[in-house]
Amino acid sequence: MKTAEITELLNEPACTHNRTEKSGCARTRPGATAGGCSFDGAQIALLPIADVAHIVHGPIACAGASWDNRGARSSGPTLYRIGMTTDLTEQDVIMGRGEKRLFLAIKQAIDDYAPKAVFVYATCVPALIGDDLEAVARAASERWGVPVVPVDCAGFYGTKNLGNRIAGEAMFKYVIGRREPEPLPAAALRPGIRVHDVNLIGEYNIAGEFWYVAPLFDELGLRILCTLSGDARFHEVQTMHRAQASMVVCAKALLNVARKLEADFGVPFFEGSFYGVSDTSQAFRDFARLLGDADLAARTEAMITREEARIRAALEPWRARLAGKRVLLYTGGVKSWSVVSALQDLGMTVVATGTNKSTEEDKARIRELMGDATRMITDGSPKALLQACKDYRADILIAGGRNLYTALKARIPFLDINQEREFGYAGYDGMLELVRQLALTLESPVWRKVRAPAPWAAQQAADETPPVRGGSDG
Ligand code: SF4
Repeated sequence: MKTAEITELLNEPACTHNRTEKSGCARTRPGATAGGCSFDGAQIALLPIADVAHIVHGPIACAGASWDNRGARSSGPTLYRIGMTTDLTEQDVIMGRGEKRLFLAIKQAIDDYAPKAVFVYATCVPALIGDDLEAVARAASERWGVPVVPVDCAGFYGTKNLGNRIAGEAMFKYVIGRREPEPLPAAALRPGIRVHDVNLIGEYNIAGEFWYVAPLFDELGLRILCTLSGDARFHEVQTMHRAQASMVVCAKALLNVARKLEADFGVPFFEGSFYGVSDTSQAFRDFARLLGDADLAARTEAMITREEARIRAALEPWRARLAGKRVLLYTGGVKSWSVVSALQDLGMTVVATGTNKSTEEDKARIRELMGDATRMITDGSPKALLQACKDYRADILIAGGRNLYTALKARIPFLDINQEREFGYAGYDGMLELVRQLALTLESPVWRKVRAPAPWAAQQAADETPPVRGGSDG
């Protein structure tokens, strides 16, 4: 990838954070790749496309470190979960065999799995030795008649966020706009209801959570042409240009796709979230607003009134159990504010939230929600997190999986909120799952047990206490 292309991606005009800050969220700083390199970011963005063979062109460790580390679910094909790599070795580098290995790897993937397409991801080593990914992809595609998409995302280009954008750029350059959507099936047509085609961008269907929300789209007559990329299929990505509106779900990832869809195909977009009751309702309202359909707006309001009443009644018994509990939230991006709002909905107190990976817009939303009580934490080291838990008297730490053992060793209740989690929290029903998991975690009898002195400690203390002597014998 040329420096000019990287600079263009770094200066994403739709990202106000990039406009206002010298160090935008995708910019590279020394050590900044510690949270994931560009290759990692590109894989995160595209790996959930389920019927594609994803080949990592590089040494085994690049694929090994990133394989299947996200909980994105598919309702059909599972090809995306098979880790494929060219496994480059020193010998391949010395002998200049990188491109040949990649070509044969593509052949093997096509022969063994008949994928709808093959995505090949560059890593640092082939980028350094100058392998021409684009030429290999073109040659392989012509030879075997299967689309082969090069994703030039060497880790040293920059951060995970930059990798997201590189992935979006690859989709725009090689995939989007290559197919027309299927005609609507007769079963989807309902008298008097106009169906609108929409996209979701940056929704990854972690733990299958989007399946809580999808039926509401069906009910309103919103056909999801493509979710980039949770539970997506290759042919769906090809049709994204025909949508009438897009929602950018994860605030900054893939923003460039939304912007280019708007600029080149006139598809308007908005940014939103499905975490929390009010944000879920707002997302549906924003779709109705962008689509400019008065009937849809009326049906949306009716659906929101019904769903909010249903979910608030279902949440009521849990509210008493959770109200007043103090939460320390350490996550990034859109979740740093959308989860705050979801927890406040439940009557919980968010004592502080992590903003290490949040943009200026995310921080503004946090200030709006938390008001004067806003405390933002940027240091996510175990020591700092534990100190913050102590200082703010947090009852529970809600953070990414990497903090699990930090919390457990300090005997602090912990809930995983990031991509490795097993439970979906999106939409109205996702809130129910979230309260259930919060209550189970906070009320687990294990905390009482582990915080009590060990049985042997009491005995030891008794043994070490000097015997009290009786009165003087003199
Ligand atoms: S692409 Fe580069 S930075 Fe990323 S995991 Fe591979 S070697 Fe490391």
